[in-house]
Amino acid sequence: MIDTQPAPRYVPDSSDARPVISVVAPVYNEAATLPLFCERVIAALEPLREPFELVLINDGSRDGSLEVMVGLHERDPRIKVINFSRNFGHQIAITAGIDYARGAAVAVIDSDLQDPPEVIPELIAKWREGYGIVFAQRAEREGETWFKKATAAFFYRLIRRITNVNIPVDTGDFRLMDRKVVDTLRQMREHHRFMRGLSVWVGFKQTGVEYKRAPRHAGETKYPLSKMLRFALDGITSFSYLPLQLATYFGFLVAAISMVALIAVVILRLTGSQTNFYGQASTLVSVLFLGGIQLIFLGIIGEYLGRIYDEVKQRPLYIVADVLGLDETQDRRV
Ligand code: UDP
Ligand code: MG
Repeated sequence: MIDTQPAPRYVPDSSDARPVISVVAPVYNEAATLPLFCERVIAALEPLREPFELVLINDGSRDGSLEVMVGLHERDPRIKVINFSRNFGHQIAITAGIDYARGAAVAVIDSDLQDPPEVIPELIAKWREGYGIVFAQRAEREGETWFKKATAAFFYRLIRRITNVNIPVDTGDFRLMDRKVVDTLRQMREHHRFMRGLSVWVGFKQTGVEYKRAPRHAGETKYPLSKMLRFALDGITSFSYLPLQLATYFGFLVAAISMVALIAVVILRLTGSQTNFYGQASTLVSVLFLGGIQLIFLGIIGEYLGRIYDEVKQRPLYIVADVLGLDETQDRRV
C-alpha cells in the first residue's frame, strides 16, 4: 500500500460547521497521486482563511485508493469520502460529489493533478465578483497525445456547432459553481450525464479563467478511445437532435435525386434516344448504399432509444457504500 506522508493532524474548530468552499474530486485508481493532491488542494485553500471541505469520491478503485483516502480523512477531517459500491464513471462521481457538497461555492477538479489546485483561488476570486460559473479553460495541454488533443479540439468545436448550449471550447469539468447553480444541477437526474454541458445549460453569469493543463502525476488515463466515444455521444445526444434530423434531410436529398432521375428516364424513353438501361451492378450498388444509410439511421435512433430506456427505468444514479465525514441520512435530491 502507498504510504501517506506524515502531515500534522488537523484539529477542527467551530468555524468548520459549514464550509464556504467545497472541492469535489472523483477518484478512480489514483492511490499514487492522492496524498500530494490533497496536500496541494489544502495548501491552495488554507491561505484564504475560510472553512472548506474536500470531497473525494471513490469510484470503485481497485488499487487501494480507498485506504489512502481513509488515512487522509483521519488525519484531516476536512477531507471527506464518498465510497461507491462499484465504478459508476467520472460524470456520475462528480454528480455524487455535488450532491453531498455543502459549500456556498463548489469546485470540481480531477484528482490526477492535471488540473492544478492552485487555480482554485483564481476561480473563487471570480465567483466573488458575482459569477455563477467560473470555468477553468485549458490554454495549453502538456503530456497528452496529439490524438487526444486533436479529437478533443474537434469534438468541442463540433458540439458547439450542433447544439444550442454554448459550451466554451476547451473546458473540461474543472470549474467552480455557485450554490444556486449546484442546487439546480442537483435537480437534474438524467443518467447519461454530460456535466460540462448541463452546468452551462443552467445559465447564470459565466466566465473563464485560463490555465495550463499539466500532464498526469501518475498512472494512466481512464478514458480509452471507446469511453471517449461513448462520452462524446452522450454529449451530443444530451443536447442535440441533429443526428435524428439528418435522416430527414438525407431523405429529401435522395428523393430529389430520384425525381430528377425519373424524369430523365421518361424523357430518354419517349425520345427514343436510349431504349435500354444496362446495369445490374449500378442497381445493386444503389440498393446497398441506401440499405447502409438506413441501417446507420436505425443505429442513430437506437442511440436515442437506449438513452430513453435508461431514463425510464429510473434506477438510482449511483449507490453509495459508505461515507466518511458527511451526512449519510439526508436525501441528496433537492
Ligand atoms: N475517474 C473516475 N471514474 C472513472 C474514470 C475516471 O472517477 O471511471 C476520475 C479520475 O480518477 C480522474 C478524473 O476522473 O480524477 C479524470 O479521469 P482521467 O484523468 O482518466 O481522464 P483524462 O484526464 O485522461 O481525460
Ligand atoms: Mg486526467
